[in-house]
Amino acid sequence: MQLSSSTFPAPISYHHLMRLMLIAIVFALFPALGQGATDQHSATIEAMGGIPINISAWGMTTQEFDSSVEAISQRIEYLESILSPYRPDSAVAALNRGEIPDQLAPEITRLVDVARHVSDETAGTFDITVMPLVQLWKRCKEAGRLPTSTDLSEAASRTNWTAITVEEGVLRIEQEGLMLDFGGIAKGYFADEAVALLRSAGATRCLVDVGGDIATWQALPIAKPFRIGIRDPFGSSSIFATLSIDEGAVVTSGDYERFYTIEGKQYCHIIDPRTGWPVEGMHSVTLLAPTGVEADALATAVFVLGATGGRDFVETHPSVEAIIVSDKSDGGVEVYISPGLIDAVQLVTPD
Ligand code: AMP
Ligand code: MG
Repeated sequence: MQLSSSTFPAPISYHHLMRLMLIAIVFALFPALGQGATDQHSATIEAMGGIPINISAWGMTTQEFDSSVEAISQRIEYLESILSPYRPDSAVAALNRGEIPDQLAPEITRLVDVARHVSDETAGTFDITVMPLVQLWKRCKEAGRLPTSTDLSEAASRTNWTAITVEEGVLRIEQEGLMLDFGGIAKGYFADEAVALLRSAGATRCLVDVGGDIATWQALPIAKPFRIGIRDPFGSSSIFATLSIDEGAVVTSGDYERFYTIEGKQYCHIIDPRTGWPVEGMHSVTLLAPTGVEADALATAVFVLGATGGRDFVETHPSVEAIIVSDKSDGGVEVYISPGLIDAVQLVTPD
């Protein structure tokens, strides 16, 4: 396995991780490593059928923090109730059945707007209409067979991000039969929403981790960076690197999260909408962006863009940084660290 970056003079070999088909997952070191502040409050709640949400905040009274945690819990429950395509009574489920309500929740329009923007920026590798393909692969997993080309073209004909637009706050769906799936963007958005609630309740510093997707904020002057761990999944909870950030969001898309095993081969849950096939050769993309919603959508998009396309994207977008773990063409696994992160990433030597 090698680490490489455009600013490294040569790839550095990283002996301790030799055995890895490395899958990196990011989690906040919770309570965060070395924060040192005495007034830290922390809580864990669950949402979305058991996904843990770790909340840390500084500068609040216990009462302020407790009421914020309650507000976050209610807010996320509300967002799930409108956004989940799997809840028949949600607004998105109604949209997916072709019912356009008179009043659409502004949160849906905002998310579609961000998604459309990211699709434009990434040549459609992020696509909130990818659901027919996701459902096709799930059916194939259950049937234990790969999709036929007819299956793929039928699902692809109902996948079309260019037909979804938001103009002056109005959502338009210009093709019948399209379905929205916010699975690639929701967790980052929820983390942003939680951070906004903590800020408005008076936190001077906070970090919210929604199932590994992290949003942070702190007041100026910066008290201390947040340190976030990137974990070696084969080492259960061992960390292969830490990342220091002053603020912003860190989101990971990984091939370990969910996958389909068909005919003895593993296919990951992220689909390339351009081909209809699950992405291959990528293990994880850890992406930094100013907000969780952008970081989440872009982590998925960069995962689809692949090692080379993803690296090009990151290096031409100044507000974005990434750590990309992918297969090397000649075997083994490579970790790319974007130039802006070189000083922020610290490798951790396993015991
Ligand atoms: P993430 O873990 O954030 O990368 O999101 C993956 C989830 O987003 C999947 O489980 C699908 O529901 C959905 N998804 C899969 N492929 C894409 C894609 N290319 N664009 C947008 N959403 C996707
Ligand atoms: Mg995502």
